[in-house]
Amino acid sequence: MKWITRFFVTIITASVLISFAVCVQAVSSMQTSLEHLNETLELIESAMDDAYDQAINESLVYAPDGLSKFQLRGNAQTEAQRLLDKITDERSLPRYELNTLRFRGTLRDGAAGTASECEDVSKGSEASYTISLNEILFLRNYEDFIHIIIPHEVAHVMVCLSGGYEWNEKDESHHRAAHGEEWFQVMKELGFPEPQKYVTHDLDMLPVYLYKTNLASKVDEALNHGHEEEEYETE
Ligand SMILES: [Zn+2]
Repeated sequence: MKWITRFFVTIITASVLISFAVCVQAVSSMQTSLEHLNETLELIESAMDDAYDQAINESLVYAPDGLSKFQLRGNAQTEAQRLLDKITDERSLPRYELNTLRFRGTLRDGAAGTASECEDVSKGSEASYTISLNEILFLRNYEDFIHIIIPHEVAHVMVCLSGGYEWNEKDESHHRAAHGEEWFQVMKELGFPEPQKYVTHDLDMLPVYLYKTNLASKVDEALNHGHEEEEYETE
């Protein structure tokens, strides 16, 4: 009987040791995969930064001379706040300090700028509105942004601060409702007697499309770099 006991003890010990070894290997291969994933993510992030920097540097050539992108961003912020202050003052509303403007390489539906949706402030929470601008278009069409696009977006924020807009979901598109009577009124107060002319923009979108193509190919390169390394290591 004794050898049978010893036999089983040996079998059990061996299987415990094997399971342990398998676990250690699994953890270590998981660690290697995580390291690879991390490395690939870093490569993608830096590829995205590269593509954006390239687009911005190419666009800066068209911006007013001698100003950095940060100074130009500052000008946009100052102008947006100035317009907002002007209207809140005229409408005897409390001053509203805008969040820092966001600058992006692409915005939804090829927009030159966007403003956050109106918030429900009925429960006493404070509203928080942000304007985003397409920085490639901003640098290449600086005057249009200062004189048209920024007022357009400020008007959206102003509508929200004045109680929002009427939106009948059944018969109106959201886009049309957001550029409805309330928005027209603010635009008129901002010096645009024919606001319907400024609902959409007709800026040249080609540099934005080229940026998107460049971005996609740089990200693709970063992903392939990860794969090549993996293949190399398993050989
Ligand atoms: Zn709009």
